Amino acid sequence: MAEKQIAPDAATQGNTPADSTTPIRLAFAPCTDYTTQALRPALEHVLHPQIKAAGGVSGKTVMLKPNLLAWRKANDPQAVNPRFIVETAKVFLDAGASRVAILENPAVQTTPQILRAMGISDELKSLGVDAANFTNYRKQPPLDAVCFRNLEIADEFREYDFVADLAKAKTHGMMTLTFCVKNLFGLVNGGDRLAWHLAVGRDYDKFADMLIDLYLVVRPAFNLLDAVTCMEGNGPGSGTPTDRNFIAGGTDALALDAAAARVLGVDPDELHIIKRAKARGLFPAPESVGILDTPPVCEPLALPERPVMDMAQLHLGVGIPRWIQKPLYKALVVNPKVDPDKCVGCGVCVKMCPPKSLKLSGGKPDFDLPHCIRCFCCQEHCPKGAIEPKMTRTMRFVKAVDRLFRGTKKRKSK
Ligand code: SF4
Ligand code: SF4
Repeated sequence: MAEKQIAPDAATQGNTPADSTTPIRLAFAPCTDYTTQALRPALEHVLHPQIKAAGGVSGKTVMLKPNLLAWRKANDPQAVNPRFIVETAKVFLDAGASRVAILENPAVQTTPQILRAMGISDELKSLGVDAANFTNYRKQPPLDAVCFRNLEIADEFREYDFVADLAKAKTHGMMTLTFCVKNLFGLVNGGDRLAWHLAVGRDYDKFADMLIDLYLVVRPAFNLLDAVTCMEGNGPGSGTPTDRNFIAGGTDALALDAAAARVLGVDPDELHIIKRAKARGLFPAPESVGILDTPPVCEPLALPERPVMDMAQLHLGVGIPRWIQKPLYKALVVNPKVDPDKCVGCGVCVKMCPPKSLKLSGGKPDFDLPHCIRCFCCQEHCPKGAIEPKMTRTMRFVKAVDRLFRGTKKRKSK
């Protein structure tokens, strides 16, 4: 597709049309489904400008880091679609890459197990694409980072010429919406992931700072977003699949995440990662970001309910005294809640809870809410989608009043 000049509008948020001098290039492509016929041209459209910007991949090695959290059923919106992974690998191989490999560290199954469950193992093998879990973790030296200290991350990414970050567009109880930057959390050692959740507790800005630090270390050359089928509502574990029929890509994950958020109906400044990147002077200047196409016009995603205290942190920073925070937090919060009909008592949620504020009682999870940090790891990893966020009664009331005054309606998942 030829590069188009477009006028900056609400979706491009002041970014300039791309030309050969624009250092960061974002691209969007419509994609109706996961067939090769639909995916291949869309992927080429968003990837080729990135490959060009990287100086080509001929004779180079590429590590794919797909979001492979788990695979429960066909078209599971928790993970990047299997066809998206295969076709991306093919685009790199056809562009001359000497080696393409898939590395990830899913919480419960291994990378090869998930790819097998997805039904793409044999095809990847026939293409010569290896798949493995990260195993070689190393403490990273601190950057200019605010909080990146003593974090162990997978070192394998250094063995490749390029990293390609393949993310799913999905809602997230803690981070609201997650795309490419959050997907890199998979490079963090599993034990450290829990420790980090525990360390930052309810301070979502701190968690965002850590993700940004991680991004600065890994700096994927290629960033791709699977938004053909997204997850809305109670993400990241028990959300609803919903089609938005596009894919996006770009040479800068922060710029791409912000542009994708806008397309999916969320002001990027409402996302902790974007807010913190801007506050730290790390978000690219609008004039350095070029968009090759008019971004798609989409119905906004239905978002998970957010604790009022989280919104206060976003908008007021540290302005709320601690002694008020505690009782306010208790009243205005979203709690994890189990659906006993869906729960099979497997105990994965207990294993994944960073502060161990969860135990099985009578075969079902029993939450110790005063010690729960609302990270929603239990929800994210529940294989049955049995855990849902539930607002307190006070919070439901406050939200309803807020909607009344602002004249907005609640967005419901379909
Ligand atoms: S809530 Fe989910 S993860 Fe926890 S025991 Fe039940 S099925 Fe397993
Ligand atoms: S109960 Fe769930 S939301 Fe609460 S801390 Fe444990 S994993 Fe996080």
